[in-house]
Formats: sequence, C-alpha cells, structure tokens
Amino acid sequence: MRPKSQQMLGDLFVVVWDDGHESYYPLEGLRRACPCAGCSGEPDLFGRMARGPTPVYRRESFELRSVDPIGNYALQPNWGDGHTYGIWTFDRLRELCSCEECRTTRKA
Ligand SMILES: [Zn+2]
Ligand SMILES: [Zn+2]
Repeated sequence: MRPKSQQMLGDLFVVVWDDGHESYYPLEGLRRACPCAGCSGEPDLFGRMARGPTPVYRRESFELRSVDPIGNYALQPNWGDGHTYGIWTFDRLRELCSCEECRTTRKA
C-alpha cells in the first residue's frame, strides 16, 4: 500500500492510495499522533526510551509546511513549529485513516 498522491487541503492532509482509497487526516490529529519518540514515548530504533516532556503545542504546531517522502516507505511531515521528527510509514499512516470503511474493516 502506497500513496499515489498527497496534498494539503485547508486543515486536512489528503492521501490517495494506490488502491484508490482516499484518506483525510485532520492536521491536528495527525500532529498529536506524531510517531516520533519525543511525542509518542516509544523507544527509538536503538530501543532507548526517549520520553521527553509532554509536547507543548502552539498554533503553528498544527500547520503543515510540507511533507517529504522518505525512500519509498514513509512520509515525513514538516510542521509549522519546526517539528520534523515524525516519520509516517505508509502502513502506519493508513492505519490512522478513520473513515467509516477503515474503521469497519479494522473492527472485523
Ligand atoms: Zn513528534
Ligand atoms: Zn479509510
């Protein structure tokens, strides 16, 4: 599963997947779900816990400047407050899709 295209639309980040599915991510939700170690408190690649202080969000924190592709497996958002640590693998991004179809599939 890979994004065929992605774009910012107001306060939404829209991904069209190569299977034709479209995902709409509210920017605020996407930022709050940032998978980087600092935001999620998950261990980094080396297994270290990098739990920092609770993230402090500003208005710019929910503004998306750009999204850079990382190789062909992930996207890296560049947030308005300079936060660029979250790397969204395609699988993880797709899992965050909260459309009815995906929610139903996940429940099943
Ligand atoms: Zn983060
Ligand atoms: Zn979906």
